[in-house]
Amino acid sequence: SREWHLVARPQGWPTPDDFALREAALPELADGQILVKNLHFSVDPYMRGRMNDVKSYVPPFQLDQPMDGGAVGEVLASRAEGFAVGDHVLHGLGWRSHAVLGADRVAKVDASLAPLTAYLGVLGMPGLTAYAGLLAVAEFKEGDAVFVSGAAGAVGSQVGQIARLKGASRVIGSAGSDEKVRLLTEEYGFDAAFNYKNGDVTEQLKAAAPDGIDVYFDNVGGDHLEAAISALNVHGRAAICGMISMYNATEPSPAPRNLALVIGKRLRLEGLLVSDHQALQPQFVEELSGWIRSGELKYSETKVSGIENGVEAFLGMLRGANTGKMIVSLAD
Ligand code: NDP
Repeated sequence: SREWHLVARPQGWPTPDDFALREAALPELADGQILVKNLHFSVDPYMRGRMNDVKSYVPPFQLDQPMDGGAVGEVLASRAEGFAVGDHVLHGLGWRSHAVLGADRVAKVDASLAPLTAYLGVLGMPGLTAYAGLLAVAEFKEGDAVFVSGAAGAVGSQVGQIARLKGASRVIGSAGSDEKVRLLTEEYGFDAAFNYKNGDVTEQLKAAAPDGIDVYFDNVGGDHLEAAISALNVHGRAAICGMISMYNATEPSPAPRNLALVIGKRLRLEGLLVSDHQALQPQFVEELSGWIRSGELKYSETKVSGIENGVEAFLGMLRGANTGKMIVSLAD
């Protein structure tokens, strides 16, 4: 089998030299284990944090060891009850061609209900992040005006559409290209969107939301968070989901410089971890799959083919090469 190892801890932006694709022998199957051929694996922003040797909510990747993360694959051999050759499973040993793991660490998924890649994106971890962050953390309610950054990504594109479907008065998104901005307004039903690379974020948000916003879903941090704090109305709420503008930074961001506004406006800024919200999973899958079936909710995926392009896919995602979920496909 082949697997991606982290071989050096990146300083700032990772480079291909920080990673190596290595051959590994597969262990013999023990009782209760299955052998999975990975068909798709996920590359996610949080993995950048795991490349640093710091304590966080997920442990760091170890040097010269395989990296891990979400993956879906097909069972090639099974010594576990309830798992048969040909079954499809979702599990946490991505970044490799094959995985041997205990059946208690996998979930069966049904390829006839949704494409397998959807379990890594719209119906998977990023989708639940969007759903729980907007509804449970930001406590979105009908009539709220919502701004989401990183709006053309896996999480952001779902946040905006869920807000629209749940009766937002206005949905605004920001993204890093004019093409993504067009997708938001023309395909995903956002009321307004802007390209943050085209000018000052605070000014562009003010123009897009003349009456202010009630909810901010933060995927970006820095100047986006500062702009949102300026635009939030009294008793506004922000779900702090990610701060991708800082993940490769070597200096802390000076923004937000207007945090004192939190007082007078009585704002609530709350961090969010998707792992706290597993209880919402059944409700989330039912509601989202209904909207997907009816065509009311759309999603995109950017697929990169071949395990050898896994690192390039990860780096591309950090640069904004993806629209919707970035996925590495080993299927063909
Ligand atoms: P995306 O699919 O959104 O991919 C990342 C995107 O970030 C890129 O496509 C790029 O789009 C954008 N980006 C990169 N650099 C910058 C920058 N400097 N400023 C603004 N945008 C930038 O990833 P996900 O949907 O998987 O994740 C989105 C966010 O949610 C991340 O911050 C992630 O860490 C967080 N997250 C948090 C979870 C939690 O439990 N707290 C769980 C899952 C995700 P563009 O072209 O628009 O620049």
